[in-house]
Amino acid sequence: VEHRVAPAGEVPPLDLALLRGFAFTCRDDCGLCCYAEPRVRPQERGPLLQIAPETAWVHRADGEFLAARTDGGACQFLVDRRCTVHAVRPSPCREFPLTAHLGLRLQATMVLSCPGVDLTGLDGWRPGAPGPITGLDGELAALRARVDRTTARRMGEAARRRARIARRLERDGRWLEEDEVRSRLRRELPRPGAPEFPVGDPPSADDGLELLPLFFGGLRGPVALASGPGGWQLLELRADGGVERTIAIVPPPTTVPDTTSDGRATLDGYLRYWVERDELFGSVHAAMLESEEGSVEEWARAELRQIGAVVLARADVRARARLARPRPLTRDDVLDGIRATDQDLLDRETWGDRL
Ligand code: SF4
Ligand code: SF4
Repeated sequence: VEHRVAPAGEVPPLDLALLRGFAFTCRDDCGLCCYAEPRVRPQERGPLLQIAPETAWVHRADGEFLAARTDGGACQFLVDRRCTVHAVRPSPCREFPLTAHLGLRLQATMVLSCPGVDLTGLDGWRPGAPGPITGLDGELAALRARVDRTTARRMGEAARRRARIARRLERDGRWLEEDEVRSRLRRELPRPGAPEFPVGDPPSADDGLELLPLFFGGLRGPVALASGPGGWQLLELRADGGVERTIAIVPPPTTVPDTTSDGRATLDGYLRYWVERDELFGSVHAAMLESEEGSVEEWARAELRQIGAVVLARADVRARARLARPRPLTRDDVLDGIRATDQDLLDRETWGDRL
């Protein structure tokens, strides 16, 4: 089992390799990332309270969070899709659409659900793809400002959690280092097939609107995806909570949807991008403990097929809600599917941590 983590006391480097080739410009007609309860660090509380003394908080074991409006609504400070405390907004808001996974390395990735991120870079994406990082200076500075010696300590804890999992899987003959699995997956990328369909349903609206996958649909509020009678529902949400209207109800695909060749190339690029994300292994290793079967490579392959299937299913539902007829999914449809999926995948549990 390898240990490559920065020694405690050292400030670990922020790995930016996965940001290359992407550009970002925030859209002023969006507000999608504000349908959230951002975490507020202790040192950010005072400046915020000076501007907004009536701030409503949610207290959890891992800190204090800005309360969103009830029933799937946006953050209390979002008004007409603008942040009313912009100068003192907390770190997750300053950094979005960047996120950093804290594991054996401190790996920055982009939240590809953000409609301000230009996803052109995903077409045929390969590791080591060159290219500038455009439009993210402020977000990168905010992320870097949080990297300090405590980050190295947290990485040490994450590495110990990984080592415990690795020892157990090694004992059962199921372990393989990430680098080895990555090189096998790069040689032969798994794609979703018939066994992955139909994919699992999103939660129902009755389970709570805040649990539903969201995406930007160019409407006043974001669109939530819910399962319900008759299929998957696309629901436009209001900022003050609740559903504004049902846009469409579409039965999800039960077989692999047809995809054009450029749509397949985009999906392949996204899956290759996932192979390089440490989150993939963090969640796969943790999930493997719940079963006695399968090697890391088999689990990672199954996971990538599932990711691809969910992207295609959401792409298909979005395309049919617009066009009301089946057709091969194009590159733009697949990008819609990626945008409706990526944030959910990044929210899964891993043995690592978020910066
Ligand atoms: S989701 Fe992206 S584009 Fe939309 S408001 Fe947030 S940062 Fe801007
Ligand atoms: S504090 Fe501002 S930027 Fe952050 S979620 Fe609330 S409205 Fe959005």
